[in-house]
Order: sequence, then structure tokens, then C-alpha cells
Amino acid sequence: MMRNIAVVGTGYVGLVTGVCLSDIGHHVTCIDIDEQKIQLLKQGKSPIYEPGLEELMLKNINNGRLTFTTDHQTGFHQKEVIYIAVGTPQKKDGSADLSYVHQVARDIARNIKQDVIVVTKSTVPVGTNDEIRQVIKENLVSDVQVDVVSNPEFLREGSAVQDTFHGDRIVIGADNEKAATMIEEINKPFGIPVVKTDIRSAEMIKYASNAFLATKISFINEISNICEKLGANIEDVAYGMGLDHRIGNQFLRAGIGYGGSCFPKDTKALVQMAGNVDHKFELLESVIRVNNVQQAKLVEKAKGFFGSLEGKTVAILGLAFKPNTDDMREAASVVIANMLIQEGARIKGYDPIALENAKRILGDSIEYSDNIEDVLADADIAFISTEWKEIVEFELHLYSKYMKTPIVFDGRNCYALEEVEKHDLEYHSIGRPSVY
Ligand code: NAD
Repeated sequence: MMRNIAVVGTGYVGLVTGVCLSDIGHHVTCIDIDEQKIQLLKQGKSPIYEPGLEELMLKNINNGRLTFTTDHQTGFHQKEVIYIAVGTPQKKDGSADLSYVHQVARDIARNIKQDVIVVTKSTVPVGTNDEIRQVIKENLVSDVQVDVVSNPEFLREGSAVQDTFHGDRIVIGADNEKAATMIEEINKPFGIPVVKTDIRSAEMIKYASNAFLATKISFINEISNICEKLGANIEDVAYGMGLDHRIGNQFLRAGIGYGGSCFPKDTKALVQMAGNVDHKFELLESVIRVNNVQQAKLVEKAKGFFGSLEGKTVAILGLAFKPNTDDMREAASVVIANMLIQEGARIKGYDPIALENAKRILGDSIEYSDNIEDVLADADIAFISTEWKEIVEFELHLYSKYMKTPIVFDGRNCYALEEVEKHDLEYHSIGRPSVY
């Protein structure tokens, strides 16, 4: 059955959720306080890069099921369900900053004139939905009923639309069967298995899932570090491990660590959450430490070879935190660039999509191009930090053609060693023997 829905926050999660819910037949209004974003969206332009998103957005704007506004009162008018999809960034102490979520709770309370179900998509610490319920109750201006449902989001940037239509599960945490059933029905057209549980368990499923995936990454990275020292090859080791169904082959790629807007902050928030109830989460603390060391690994390796990197011209290939996204939050490239700036190197950065966001973070401390050849021209060293298709498919003979000295530190194991060996290239990767 078609429902009237508002989605608050038009970032990676909110916009994709709003667009996909309208595509399965609901009437959706997306609300954001960022006027610029809403202006763009009204013109049918997506403020973020996400494959397939803009086309789907346009389709549903044109069929009248998807609208945008900066005004909460207009946005909430006659809505039956309101999704919260605003950011929950990390505070200085590692815990989640809930100020945006609380603000939305107040916005809801002050503007609704009908019964609603508030659905929290944002990743929030266990107990937050109880707080949301409380904040709404304290600020309500009408005599209406508000139910709160936890519905954590599992989409991945870079395949967010695909993930929304073909996700592994939809988690619905509620203490009211009617509200849970309504959210289940809204999602029915996606045809994805639903896990119904209580609110706190739903909140925890999200953190535990991200913490587990981060653990897998740090685990394989540690194995790769030992492989390097013992002369084993991590690619073969991971393949051999991944064939065991109990282990699985996903998230077993060694590299320079995880980044992005979720794993770094969610792992730290879970450590904090555990600490708040007097539990020291030893394992996850190690996962975070291993990742920090891993992100710095390529530059440390290069320093080991060259001594100082002062005055070297260095190419960074790939700036986004992973392929197919323009998101630069907590990207390994930023760690690499900052270390190289400290070293006094001249830095040139390549990315096919994320240059605008990269400039916002790194400013004019590096030069930018969306052309690999330009960035490699006259470089002494190249660091690969994102496995973009353009980099993986870059012809290996071109490194020696453009670079002053073809020395590559590959943080994502983009190339097979047998291929590298056929070319004039010095090549250092993760958990594999170097090629000279
Ligand atoms: P984002 O930073 O891309 O977008 C958040 C949006 O909310 C911004 O556009 C901001 O202007 C808007 N906003 C803030 N306060 C508002 C208010 N009071 N009213 C209306 N709009 C407001 O965030 P994101 O990456 O989409 O993440 C949102 C949440 O989803 C976070 O909790 C995150 O942890 C979680 N999550 C993110 C991903 C991901 O891959 N990005 C995946 C799963 C879960």
C-alpha cells in the first residue's frame, strides 16, 4: 500500500532511501537544511555521486512521487512515516554526535499535526531511539501519537541504489507490533528478508555488523604484514582461506586499511558504548589501532627505501576512500597526503570523481587532475590508494613512459605480480614480495 513518507537528511543514506521508496510507489518528500542541496535536487541534479541515483531520482520527480523542501512543516504535512537519516559524526572522544538527530526529533515534535511513525535510519548508539522518543514527547505541540522504530541502514556507498533494492536484510526494531508491521509493509516491494526485533537489538545489529567487518579487514591486514616478513603471498593466502564457507571470501582483501564515513566512526562509537557500561572492548580497540598503522604503511615503507621524501614528486592515484564514490571522509589518501606534506614532497593527486571533495579537505597543498598520465608525469614515486577501475586497467608499460622513475607503492594490490614482472617497474604492494 502506498504511504506518505518524509525523509529528513538528503545525504548518501537519506537521498538514496527517499529515491528508492518513491520508486517502489510511495509518495516521498525529502527534507534538508542545506539550501544548496535542495536547490540542486529540485533541478533533478544529485549533490552526491552514486551510480544509478540521478536517473532514478529524475524518473520519480517526473512522475510526481518525489519532492524536496528545506521546510520541515511543509515536508511533514500529512506524512504517516518520517525517516531520520541525518549524520551522526564522531565527536572528539570517539562517541557519536547526536545533536543532528536530536534537532530532527525537536523539528518533528514542533511541526507534526497527525500521528506518525518515526523511523531512525541514522546509525545511533544503543538507547538513542528511547532518547528520540523522549525528546519528541517533551517538545510535542499537538496531541498526537508518535511511535519510534529503529531501521538501521546497511547500504554501501558506490552501490547504494543496488544495495537498497537487493540488500541482505532489513532490520526493524520496535516495541509496537503495529508500527513494525507498517514499516515491514512499506518495504515489502523490495522483497528483502526482514529481521524483526526489539529497538536496542536493532541498534546493536548495525554496530556489531560494522565492527565485525572492520575486524575482518584488520585481521587480513595483520596476516598480510606477517606474510611480507615470512615470504608468503597474501593473495593466495586469502583465496585459500576464503574458500572455507565459514570464513567466506568477502572483506578478505589486504590493503591500506578501511576508511569512509562509517567504519572508523562506528568502531570508535562501539568502543565508547562498551566503555560506558564498564566493558573494555579489547578486540575492537586493536582493530582500530591496526587500521591506523595500516593507513600509514605505504609512506612508512617508502621512507624506509628512500630515507627522506623531501623534494620528491609524488603521485597519489585515487583519492576517494573507495572506488565508485566521491566520498573523501577518512580516506587513506588523506593520511598519505598529510604524511607526504610533512615530508616536504610535491604531491599530485588523481581521482576520476572525488576531486571537488578532495579539494575541500586538502586545499592547495596538493595539485589535482582527473587524468592519470598528467599526475604521473615526471613523478619519482606513485602511491595507489584507491582501486578505481581506471587505475586497475591502466596499462603497466605507461608507468615507465610517464614517470621519472617508475616506482609504485600499491596499497590496494591492483596488479598481478606476473604482469608487473613483464614491465620496467619497481613495485611494492601489500603482503606480497616486491618486484624490482
Ligand atoms: P551525510 O552527511 O551525507 O548527510 C546528512 C544530511 O543531513 C546532510 O545533507 C545535512 O545537511 C542533513 N541534515 C542535518 N541536520 C538536518 C536537519 N535538522 N534537518 C534536515 N536535514 C538535516 O550523511 P550520510 O552519509 O547519509 O549518513 C547518515 C546516517 O546514516 C549516519 O548516521 C551514518 O552513520 C548512517 N549510514 C551511512 C552510510 C553511508 O554509507 N554513508 C551507510 C549506513 C549508515
